[in-house]
Amino acid sequence: MTILMGMMSLVMAAVWRINRRVPGLTWWGVAHGLGFLACMELLTRGRLPDAVSVALAQGLLLAMGYFIYVGVRRHVGDPHPPHWIGALMIGAVTSVAVYFTVVRPDFSARFLIHSLSLGVLFILTAQAVAKGGAARYPARYLLAVASLLHGLFMLGRPWLFSFDLQGPMTLARMSSISPFILLESAVAFNVMAFCALLLVTEHSHGELRRLVDRDELTGVHSRRAFLMRLQQLSEGGVERPALPILLIDLDHFKRINDTWGHSAGDEALRHFVEVAQRCMRVQDIIGRLGGEEFAVLLPRASVEQAQGVAERLRKLLVEHPVRFTDENVALTASIGVTLLRPGEPPEAALGRADQAMYQAKSEGRNRVVSLLSPVVAEVRVA
Ligand code: GH3
Ligand code: MG
Ligand code: MG
Repeated sequence: MTILMGMMSLVMAAVWRINRRVPGLTWWGVAHGLGFLACMELLTRGRLPDAVSVALAQGLLLAMGYFIYVGVRRHVGDPHPPHWIGALMIGAVTSVAVYFTVVRPDFSARFLIHSLSLGVLFILTAQAVAKGGAARYPARYLLAVASLLHGLFMLGRPWLFSFDLQGPMTLARMSSISPFILLESAVAFNVMAFCALLLVTEHSHGELRRLVDRDELTGVHSRRAFLMRLQQLSEGGVERPALPILLIDLDHFKRINDTWGHSAGDEALRHFVEVAQRCMRVQDIIGRLGGEEFAVLLPRASVEQAQGVAERLRKLLVEHPVRFTDENVALTASIGVTLLRPGEPPEAALGRADQAMYQAKSEGRNRVVSLLSPVVAEVRVA
């Protein structure tokens, strides 16, 4: 058990070195280190005075359970209780254990208090980590199940091993059942350590997804994520309705960078997204295709509604200038509207939207041009 705990602590330390920014991981590393020390302490039983030995073992194991709990709270983004509460709980339970060792030696009472307090901690851990939905965070729920089973075993342990017909627990009886207890603890802690490693992978995977799917500057879909959504929605077959797409390019954006600087340009891009989102409904999808070019997909809108959205966005942008130091600067945009027709490849529709947008540019900018099919063009001049 000690060798296993030592190895798991080393694995945790190695994982921590490369993933230290994963929330909660530091606390799990500390918890496993404490678990290893508790095992070491068990090996030295008999060499230290009983009271010291019991206080150390109980304190270390309780601190281990407490730090696993703190780690999962951190991991799911919830605040953990102030550490003085943890210290008080560990101090109180350890003192009671020492009392039942030195003042009124009673092994059953000590075993009961220890099992109940750890059982409650692991059940609290299970409850804290089961958050966010099993489909999205399977590792969290796996850890919740492992913690819950371990917590329930800890709660039931005094009854399973002590309060049966053979009388109260003695140190001798404890020795005979301790292999079961140690085996259960070894399995539980190793399963939980693997779950913690899975949580690290799950977290890193989520971070990577967020990085590739979100545009860092504006928070909207990245080009890749937008094109993937478009591809998914276009796969509805010939029965699906035509999907309106807006392609938006900000006018003379280079001038903004040249006049007010690059960070003002960045601010203008964020401002544009804010304005655009005011014109959109929840099911609409906006993505930044690159530079100052955006696309909006309106999955449940008719072509007339999409043209209305484009016109409203164009006007709203003019009416709500972006503020740079002491100057208000109105942005304008050229917008191309098209329909992704059933069975049509998304690239063809995007190409048409681009064509419509360039037509809007060539006709003087700050306008909406619809090019709904390769042959029909309709121009709306601002
Ligand atoms: P047009 O009306 O023809 O679209 O003119 P434009 O100046 O908007 O077009 P152009 O393609 O010449 O310039 C786009 C500019 O957008 C150039 C580039 O420096 C700027 N840009 C691209 N990405 C960013 C960004 O992330 N931040 C900032 N601040 N500027 C960007
Ligand atoms: Mg431009
Ligand atoms: Mg451009």
